[in-house]
Amino acid sequence: MHWADVIAKELMSKQDSNLISAGISPTGSIHVGSLREAVTAEAVRKALADKGADARMIYLIDSYDPLRRCYEFLPDSFEDEVGRPISHIPCPYGCHDTYADHFIKPFMDSMDGMGVNCEIFWTHELYQRGEFAETIDASFQRRDRVLEILSTVTGRAMPEDFHAFSPLCKSCGRFSTTRVTGYEFPFVSYVCKCGMEDKADIRKGEGKLSWRLEWPAKWRIFGVTCEPFGKDHAAAGGSYDSGVRLVREVFDAEPPYPIPYEFIQLKGKGQMHKSTGSAVSGVDALNMTPPSVFNYTILRVNPERHIDYDSELGILDMVDEYDRIERSFFDGDATDKEEDLVRAYELSQPNGPRTTMPVQISYRHLVNVVQVSRDFNEVLETLKRTDDLRGISIEELKTLEQRVECVKYWLNAFAPESVKYTISEEMPDVDLGEEENRFLSSLLDNLRGSDWDGDLIHNTVYETAKESGLGAKKGFQTLYRIFIERRNGPRMGYFLATLDREFVLQRISEAASKV
Ligand SMILES: [Zn+2]
Ligand SMILES: [Zn+2]
Repeated sequence: MHWADVIAKELMSKQDSNLISAGISPTGSIHVGSLREAVTAEAVRKALADKGADARMIYLIDSYDPLRRCYEFLPDSFEDEVGRPISHIPCPYGCHDTYADHFIKPFMDSMDGMGVNCEIFWTHELYQRGEFAETIDASFQRRDRVLEILSTVTGRAMPEDFHAFSPLCKSCGRFSTTRVTGYEFPFVSYVCKCGMEDKADIRKGEGKLSWRLEWPAKWRIFGVTCEPFGKDHAAAGGSYDSGVRLVREVFDAEPPYPIPYEFIQLKGKGQMHKSTGSAVSGVDALNMTPPSVFNYTILRVNPERHIDYDSELGILDMVDEYDRIERSFFDGDATDKEEDLVRAYELSQPNGPRTTMPVQISYRHLVNVVQVSRDFNEVLETLKRTDDLRGISIEELKTLEQRVECVKYWLNAFAPESVKYTISEEMPDVDLGEEENRFLSSLLDNLRGSDWDGDLIHNTVYETAKESGLGAKKGFQTLYRIFIERRNGPRMGYFLATLDREFVLQRISEAASKV
């Protein structure tokens, strides 16, 4: 049984209605691994819904987290913003209202297509609406218990003056520089390093809980029953352990069913964006991997297993496997071993399972087609030459266009040079000898009589090169040289089949007569 179904069954045995929570802290560019949380949560929600159970998912954006330090990518002037909540700090590049918006908005836009079905909450708004007031009050009322739990679980003595709540200084706007001096509902008295002395109203978002308390507070506020989180939080003495005790003993609620997940590691040399020079971000991953394929990549393995995300050639294998499992899903010929993969495929569909097998144009093939076409219309023209697009539905066409966009993004940003080429519009200036000439002349004759099909063309090139005495290797090289001015390239037959037949024959004839 697929792991999402196993978890769903377990949850259904515990309660009739489930709330799955996921979230993110947008203090910088969002790593591809952060997507695992949302995709995992959504898969469990879907698995529950498939079984007729009542299930909802929420996604919490930790927009009230303070900026912890002035990261290298920030202007030096941001040193002054350290300690302020990222929902109050301006966009470092001037293109959004706030710092939090800058990092989360593009990510949320990209995530849209993945079909994550959730309600979104911004933590700074929850604080402002007073949603945390009850739990903040409880952490003051039961301060001794809080301290005991934190020191027992972490094994570290807590400082005497520790408070689970940091007031937001009214004067300098920081959490990090204030110190609590007293509490009487709903006011927390504080002094700040800047000289400010005042009271913060816990019902109005004038401060926030520390991470170890805020997490269980959210479980209590929403009634979270299940939550995936990075395995670092699951370590012994980590924030899940303390959260379990805090939510029970301080907030009088039950902790969620935990799904600790492993990280996504970037693999290969292609982890750097060719123009920005930064590592593959969540947005990059979504821009170059079709959403259903990305979901599948995550759902095909158990959350506790790590995933290598290879933004170079690995992406081609990933999409190939997805396409193969898609065929198994519709043909019903999956082996026992593949059953979980087929279920992962089903759970990966952003708009629910498809009813008919979609037209499949492999990513690998599109890498070539995109490079010989100027726009999507030309892509379609090219595909008509090599693949059967008859009867393609509007929905499939959209999916195809999305895949083409992903391929383009990949080619521009992460693809290795070895797969990239441009068709020389004019006959390149290459030196060809007698042997090459003989080969090209007979190839011209043989291709004139052949159907325009990838396999056929490939065999014709191969046989002709051998018969002419030039040899297959040199034969292929000659063709790469006259079409793309390189000595290697995409698989010859398919490559030529994607090109216009007359253009190909014309080029070969020109090259043959050039000697
Ligand atoms: Zn911005
Ligand atoms: Zn201050």
